[in-house]
Amino acid sequence: MVIRSKKARQSRELPLLSYNLKKLSEEAQNCRNCDLWQNATQTVFGEGSPNACIMLIGEVPGDQEDLQGHPFVGPAGKFLRAKLEEVGIEMKRVYLTNAVKHFKWERRGKRRIHKKPSVGEITACKPWLNAEITALKPKIIVCLGATAAQTLLGRSFRVTQHRGEFLESTIAPYVMATVHPSAILRAPDEDSRHEQERQFLADLKKIAAIRV
Ligand code: SF4
Repeated sequence: MVIRSKKARQSRELPLLSYNLKKLSEEAQNCRNCDLWQNATQTVFGEGSPNACIMLIGEVPGDQEDLQGHPFVGPAGKFLRAKLEEVGIEMKRVYLTNAVKHFKWERRGKRRIHKKPSVGEITACKPWLNAEITALKPKIIVCLGATAAQTLLGRSFRVTQHRGEFLESTIAPYVMATVHPSAILRAPDEDSRHEQERQFLADLKKIAAIRV
């Protein structure tokens, strides 16, 4: 099933979506619900065990994710995977996805530089994220960065004010927002990076401590 119709875009609900992660991933390969597919290599859908209890949501696939077709395989993804391991969260407990499933970028010289998706693009892609949550029913959802947090928790949500807190939400028993690992990698100096990394690990340790 392909979502591309104006009707689907207007409704923002896609009742015909199956709630099976494998099928959803296949269906999303043909999505044309916004224009981002045109400059991207492929849809980068979420991945992980269908029994995962923790869903981590980023913003949008990056350059490497776009080329390889898998989420969180670039530098920020490798950093995240290393930190999850460090706090004792096994990858078999984790499902990784993004709020938007196609890479948005602009060319600078030979490089493709990530661009933040617009509200319209995030809205167009939200049915896929909603379907992933419905299919997986994660016990814990972690929003990585403002885009994921505002997609699920509302546009007034501020990660800077509420990072690391467990939030009241109907979408999962435990919901938390923290920074996106790419923000840590972009820290202006070593001290700042070290401090951000320390806080990020503290947030992940709270997740690791939940027994579900
Ligand atoms: S970004 Fe999302 S809504 Fe837009 S074409 Fe890709 S999968 Fe569809």
